[in-house]
Amino acid sequence: MAEATAFYGRFAHTPSRGALEILDDTLLIIDSKGTITDVLSDSDVDFQKAFDQARASGELCQSGEKSLFLPGMVDLHVHAPQWPQLGRALHLPLDEWLNAYTFPLEAQFRNADLARSVYPDLVSTLLANGTTTAVYFSTIHMEASQVLAEVCRDAGQRAFVGKVVMDDPDQCPDYYRDSSTRQAIDETQGFIEFVRNLSGNDTDLVQPIVTPRFIPSCSHTALLELGRVADQMDCRVQTHCSEGDWEHQFVYERYGQSDTAALAELGLLQRGSVLAHCNFVSPTDMEIMKSALTGIAHCPISNAYFANSVFPLRRALDIGVSVGMGTDISGGPSPSIFENARFAIAASRMLEEGVDPEIASASRGHPDSRIDFREALWVATAGGAEVLDIPVGKFEKGRHFDAILVDHHAATDRAAFSNSTTSGEDFVQQTIYNVSQSDIRSVWVNGRLACNA
Ligand SMILES: [Zn+2]
Repeated sequence: MAEATAFYGRFAHTPSRGALEILDDTLLIIDSKGTITDVLSDSDVDFQKAFDQARASGELCQSGEKSLFLPGMVDLHVHAPQWPQLGRALHLPLDEWLNAYTFPLEAQFRNADLARSVYPDLVSTLLANGTTTAVYFSTIHMEASQVLAEVCRDAGQRAFVGKVVMDDPDQCPDYYRDSSTRQAIDETQGFIEFVRNLSGNDTDLVQPIVTPRFIPSCSHTALLELGRVADQMDCRVQTHCSEGDWEHQFVYERYGQSDTAALAELGLLQRGSVLAHCNFVSPTDMEIMKSALTGIAHCPISNAYFANSVFPLRRALDIGVSVGMGTDISGGPSPSIFENARFAIAASRMLEEGVDPEIASASRGHPDSRIDFREALWVATAGGAEVLDIPVGKFEKGRHFDAILVDHHAATDRAAFSNSTTSGEDFVQQTIYNVSQSDIRSVWVNGRLACNA
């Protein structure tokens, strides 16, 4: 497929939380920077001329009868070095999973050749699954983190890459720990400068992000210094926050306040920053995040394994804190944001109805907890963009064209798409519930084709 500067057919997106808009017979024009400059319906006076011009130029990409354009998926939480163990050791409790599998694997990235062999496959697989923006934890290693930034640039994926800080000798294993607090801070600054000066990254497609693993893995000095670095270098922050019982309690015992309140005091809640999981945050914590313009990476599948509870997504959305979706590779065993979106819907239904049949139905669950496919699509696209404060996630003038073409012609053995209606909300809902990697025909980031099946 040639590079397109115009796209025609059916588009579906969520202009606001809970709202689904389907744009049929619509023409999107993008400029050379990948920005949407016009959204024209076939009833607009300018439509026919623009359509004829685009078709004559040979740069028009059209959706077909059983296909549609969706905004690209935004994955707010990926541990890149955990890619080789996707789906492994999930039967273990968190501390065993970390100490017997995850930390030993991450430590191997001291050899940057491992990064060169693993990261291209991770990034291309995420793109093939429709993930146009990804927020990555790398490891504590400078060279391997630089490789990840270069791989994202070369693949044309919008990415935020963080070199991980874990310097506390009481909490981190000897074989996988920053050699000193000073070195961890200096290398974080050095990595931010490296990414910002990366050749071929003129559009800032790849950006750095300050990354304390979580409060328990970092010394107080490191956390304070990282807050200062983020502020002075105007850089986003990512970390884990109130994920499970252990972490939530640990921070209370260390700081006498919630994870969110402690991170705020440490200067780590910056605009466009990402707090992963947040299962145990209170409404007060959510208000703190909201006023700091920091958002949440909701990782529903991973939460089922390691977080001890279901994240109250409906409550967060109602309070107005920004929420996007995360795979949490490899705490979550799927690279697909669609799969996480579907799981988020199911988890919210279980939270609402309750899960224990021995409890009377009236007191079994938490009323008003469910989300539906519209909100799931919002969280997976525009919600993630809102967390990061980047102009993607919707088909609107002025936003970057980060999009995927889902084509159900590929699903020849799936009766659901052969005879049923191919228009309206049912089609979008069926798409969200059924789409797999093989249905994603093309992926664009910033208007450029990044994957073509
Ligand atoms: Zn994580």
